[in-house]
Amino acid sequence: MNNTKLLLIAGCVVLLQIAVLGGFGGGHDEAASGHGEAAVTEKAPVKADKGAGHAPEAKVDEKADHAPAKETAKAEEVEHEAEETHATEDAGHAKSGFDLKPSPDEVIAMLKAGNERFVQGKSTHPHLDSARLIQAGKENQGNHAYATVITCSDSRVPVEAIFDAGIMDVFVIRVAGNVCDVDETGSIEYGLAHVNTPVLVVLGHTQCGAVTAVTHAVQGRGHALERNIPPLVDNIVPAVNRAMESHSDLEGDLVIPFAIEENVWQGMEDLFLASPATRNLVTEGKAKVVGAIYDVGTGKIKWLPEEKTLAVMKKIESNPARAIEPMAN
Ligand SMILES: [Zn+2]
Repeated sequence: MNNTKLLLIAGCVVLLQIAVLGGFGGGHDEAASGHGEAAVTEKAPVKADKGAGHAPEAKVDEKADHAPAKETAKAEEVEHEAEETHATEDAGHAKSGFDLKPSPDEVIAMLKAGNERFVQGKSTHPHLDSARLIQAGKENQGNHAYATVITCSDSRVPVEAIFDAGIMDVFVIRVAGNVCDVDETGSIEYGLAHVNTPVLVVLGHTQCGAVTAVTHAVQGRGHALERNIPPLVDNIVPAVNRAMESHSDLEGDLVIPFAIEENVWQGMEDLFLASPATRNLVTEGKAKVVGAIYDVGTGKIKWLPEEKTLAVMKKIESNPARAIEPMAN
């Protein structure tokens, strides 16, 4: 048995130990909250996981997991990573969870490529096999999931499918009208600060019933809604108002597509206003927030300009009503 094989086996043992010691998504809590000193249990999966090829695996799924021919090269990578990690430990600066992931721009490229495959009928359906299930049962999702997505509950927006992603790839929040109210913002904070996804997508969609209902209500032609729906969709009202103001020439339902896009920006605005943790991660360059609209008739995602996200951020940074303290208590 050569050194690289030994190293591989050692890596697997470490992974198993971590699976036993670690709980759900907890491995990066300290690193994520910026305390700078990772727990001992965090360091092992750093080298073992990255050595197993996380970033390339996420980008090119055919390379995933346990192809024996690639193990030797990967093992050498493990060794290299191990040396690097020890050097880092010695210096007293443990890597944070984000350092294990592709960069925000790389993740955006992965999401775009996944949607292209989906649209073209060339989905590879990655990470849906039993090996991935076993991995999901043993490992920390914080070492794998690469994107947080908040989108609508609409049955025409199946998140993993439209990005050609699988198990432990995407941290998803779904709520009618993809509004960012307190529960959704808390879930997003978990996805970014604890699951350490380098990207958050705020994903609206065409023909959104929630935005349509609010548009009709604002236009004075709404109908009775069940008691819990108005407080759910009230976040959408400012978006509809803005769309109607900037497209005052449009009658009735013609304004709805513009309201849908405004609602993506509204979600981001509500999120940034209430979540200093999210703003900090964006400012530090650890995470990017992108807006997008999914077309339920074609499967295609229209990506909204990143400059607009930065403009929304800037607007909130100068809003005295923004939350300041990132942590609870
Ligand atoms: Zn919807």
